[in-house]
Order: sequence, then structure tokens, then C-alpha cells
Amino acid sequence: MRPFTYEQAYDATSAVATVTGRPGATYLAGGTNLVDHLKLGVATPDLLVDVSGLPLDEVVATADGGLRIGATVRNSDLAAHPDVRRGYPVLAQALLAGASGQIRNAATTGGNLLQRTRCRYFQDLTTPCNKRDPGSGCPAREGFHRNLAVLGASEHCVATHPSDLAVALAALEAVVVVLGPAGERRVALADLHRLPGDHPEQDTTLAHGELVTGVELPALSFAGRSAYRKVRDRASYAFALVSVAAALDLRDGVVRDVRIALGGVAHKPWRATLAEDALRGGPATEAAFRAAAETELAQAEPLPDNAFKVPLARNTITATLRGLAGSDLGSNGQGADR
Ligand SMILES: Cc1cc2nc3c(=O)[nH]c(=O)nc-3n(C[C@H](O)[C@H](O)[C@H](O)COP(=O)(O)OP(=O)(O)OC[C@H]3O[C@@H](n4cnc5c(N)ncnc54)[C@H](O)[C@@H]3O)c2cc1C
Ligand code: SF4
Repeated sequence: MRPFTYEQAYDATSAVATVTGRPGATYLAGGTNLVDHLKLGVATPDLLVDVSGLPLDEVVATADGGLRIGATVRNSDLAAHPDVRRGYPVLAQALLAGASGQIRNAATTGGNLLQRTRCRYFQDLTTPCNKRDPGSGCPAREGFHRNLAVLGASEHCVATHPSDLAVALAALEAVVVVLGPAGERRVALADLHRLPGDHPEQDTTLAHGELVTGVELPALSFAGRSAYRKVRDRASYAFALVSVAAALDLRDGVVRDVRIALGGVAHKPWRATLAEDALRGGPATEAAFRAAAETELAQAEPLPDNAFKVPLARNTITATLRGLAGSDLGSNGQGADR
């Protein structure tokens, strides 16, 4: 491991000034991802600025009926918060589907959103990887890619974003509050993470030194009817093969509004806008849910060993919406095709 200096941050503005002014500096929060990367040699900062003690550890109700979540709120605390459990089940379920109890106790909101891909080549210094070492190549396309992207990938990178929390926040249209040297700015969660394109080394749209200080959840009248469904190789302690965050607004068997985001399928949380558009104003039937999912997944470009994710995503979207519709699920006119 390369030697580095450690500093504890006592206020956000000074932390931003320190990291912005030093190219080799980076933030440390819970350390559950970054410390692994230090040990592996994937990250080689010369200065760690520890932001985990900053007073950004509250969840507070906002005037418009939403919530503001501080960047250092631990994943466990957020999942257990009564307003989250009651008002945003999709968020609590996504958090509890991630990692393990011990890791969730350490992991923070900001760190979770900015965790890096679990592509095995990215973590292995003996192999090329465009994300870790731009221009070196992407062995995943021809190699191990079973857990990698089927949507929005590029010839340069087919990695997936691993956060469950980010997928729920994408469905809830969260806004990320960021502090930089010029002050605060707000970034839609949908615009925080990038697709890989020609620059897979850039995971996000943040500039060096920008500090995530919080996440705002706007009020959403139907957030109470929301859920997160994660499919993985084993029941805990595993990243998503496919996950679905969804919220459903039904009236008299008609879909008034719907939010769907997918995890485990792309370099960023994938907002399924084509499926949403196909569903709005139509019947809440299993056939409609399945057709909408198929519309979204028509864009998929799977590789040989991850083609299974396409039907898996279709079925998981359908099952999640079916579960949310519950007893309001309409008939297909041909009987339910469950
Ligand atoms: C065995 C294992 C299983 C896991 N399973 C899952 C899973 O199923 N689902 C899931 O979602 N996650 C999973 N994780 C990942 C875990 O959730 C993340 O490691 C954790 O959320 C990262 O948060 P942290 O506070 O520890 O971040 P750190 O490791 O401290 O930091 C991560 C990155 O974020 C940056 N950073 C941290 N805070 C800020 C900030 N406020 N502003 C700007 N940059 C910041 C750091 O510089 C670093 O680059 C797993 C991890 C392990 C080790
Ligand atoms: S998929 Fe991305 S992260 Fe994985 S080896 Fe290719 S460039 Fe690296």
C-alpha cells in the first residue's frame, strides 16, 4: 500500500478547500469501499480527508413534505429511520438488501453513492482495465462479464454500478447536494453517475474535491406504494444481478403514475422511462407490466454470458409491479398469466 497522510475534517468548507487544492487527496467516509481499494492498490491517494465525523448525520423533514438525508448518515440508521420506513419503503428495502449488517453500520449515504464498480478486472492490478488505467483495454468483453452491463455500455467498458441505494434514489428522483469551492450545487441523482462512453474512468459528473453533503427526497404522493426487489446469486452479502426499484400510483385499475429504476444492468442506475411511458394511463395488468418491461429491454445489448439478465430484468420488473398492484391487479381479459 502506498503511504498516505490522514486528516480528520472538522468543517465541510475546509475539507473541500483541502481536497480541491491537492490532486492526490480524496475523501474517506465509512471506508468500506475505499480501504479495500487502498489495500489492493486500486486507489493511491497521498492524503485522506476523513469526512465521517462532519455534522451531516441527520435525516430531517423538508418544508415540501420530503426528506433531507445527510451524507454521513449510516446506511443502517437510514434504513431504520421511521420516516423512511413509513414513507419510502423502496429506500429502506434497498438499503437492507445491500452488504451485511456490519458493513451497513459503517457505510455512509455519500460513500454508498460513490462506491466503485465490482468488475473483477477493475480490482485486479495484474489485468488491463480502461476504468482503472485509461486506454489499457477492457478484458471483460471477451472475459468474465456475467455480472456486467446489458444497457448503456460502450466498447470501452461494460461495468455496472453496484449501489442498491442509488437505484432507489433514482426511482424517487432524489437530488444530490454537492459542495465545491464555488459553493453549493444540486445534481439530480439521474445526472450524478455517467454512462461509460469514451471515458469509463469517470464514474460521476462530480469534479475533483466536490463533497456530497446530502441527498434530498422530494415529496412523492405514492412513495408509500413502493418496493425494491433484488435478484442475486445468494440471499445475502451479494451484489445485484438485477434489481428493480418501483413506485406505483393506481386509481380504479389504471396506472396514474409509475417510477421504475433498474440496478445491476448498467454503469449507472437505469431509469426505465420507456416502460414508465408505456404504463401511464393504461391498465394495471400483468400483461401490461410485462409488455412495458419488454419495451424497455428492447434496447439491451447483452454479451454472451449475461444475456440471462434480459429476461431476468423483464420478469423482475413484472413481479415488482404485480406485487405493488396487489389486490388492485386487473385482469388481462385472458386470465392472469402468473
Ligand atoms: C462484502 C461487501 C458487500 C457489499 N455488498 C453491497 C451490496 O449488496 N449493495 C451495495 O449497495 N453495496 C454493497 N457494498 C458496498 C458498500 O455499501 C459500500 O462500500 C459503502 O456503501 C461505501 O460507503 P462508505 O461510507 O464506506 O464509503 P468509503 O469507502 O469511505 O468511500 C467510497 C468512495 O466515496 C467517496 N466519498 C465518500 N463520502 C463522500 C462524500 N461525502 N463526498 C464525496 N465523496 C465521498 C470516497 O472518496 C470513495 O471514493 C458491499 C461492500 C462489501 C465490502
Ligand atoms: S468493464 Fe470497465 S471496469 Fe471492467 S475491465 Fe472493462 S473497463 Fe475495466
